[in-house]
Amino acid sequence: MNSGTVPHGLTPGTVPPWRWAGTVPLLFGMLRVWRLRWKLRLGSGRVMRSPFERSDGLPHASVATIELERALAGPGCPICALIHSMERRWLWTLLYEHSGDLSVHEALAAAVGLCGTHGALLEEVVGERRLASAGAAARLYLTVVSEVRRKLEAGARRAPVPDCPLCERVGETERRLAGTLAGALRDGKWRHAYESSDGLCLPHLDLCLAELRGKAREWLRGDATGRLTELAGKLSEFCRKHRYDVDEEVTAEESMAWKEALWRIGGQP
Ligand SMILES: [Zn+2]
Ligand SMILES: [Zn+2]
Repeated sequence: MNSGTVPHGLTPGTVPPWRWAGTVPLLFGMLRVWRLRWKLRLGSGRVMRSPFERSDGLPHASVATIELERALAGPGCPICALIHSMERRWLWTLLYEHSGDLSVHEALAAAVGLCGTHGALLEEVVGERRLASAGAAARLYLTVVSEVRRKLEAGARRAPVPDCPLCERVGETERRLAGTLAGALRDGKWRHAYESSDGLCLPHLDLCLAELRGKAREWLRGDATGRLTELAGKLSEFCRKHRYDVDEEVTAEESMAWKEALWRIGGQP
């Protein structure tokens, strides 16, 4: 090769300086990444590893998994807790972002509005959130009421009322969360976290059990039976200590058992 054709007047066989200029920051970058990985995976005492991380040290990517991980650390049924926050978010978004959206007005009118439970929840959301105004609720329901009135006036036969759109969303979300939790419970780390939690309510337990087979199903069924045995014991003691001929003090757990029975059997309202 003729040296006169080499760019920048370099002789053949030498490494161009612009290559070195890129190599040095790259090496520093790799060193930084390696140090971070060392801190996360081997642990220096400063970085805690989540028990939900996979054995390769990477967290589960699914948003549903992360949400369930947080909900398990809180009180009550984790799926009920996530459903409640989803319902409130959905209603707030409806009021704040979609009260001027014609297609949303039409869809809500076609569904003949929300069911009674979600209507009451919408009222709560309007009361709690500054930006979810009563005006937005009024605008949406003006369309619903006008449409119902128009059909009634025209003498049209009342078609069966479709499901409330939020009830539909709740059903989809419950199935998705139950499937995710059931999948996670095949992992020993998740089982340990589940055992330390308040566990599922009966409706959500049924959804999870339907997703499981074999040993994982038997494990969850056994866990639920154990929780119900314990709850029945506390209820029984509470009843016994309320008899006129028993003079024993009711414990705090026993006095709260009837409340646990309500959410455990029927789900959290
Ligand atoms: Zn539940
Ligand atoms: Zn509903």
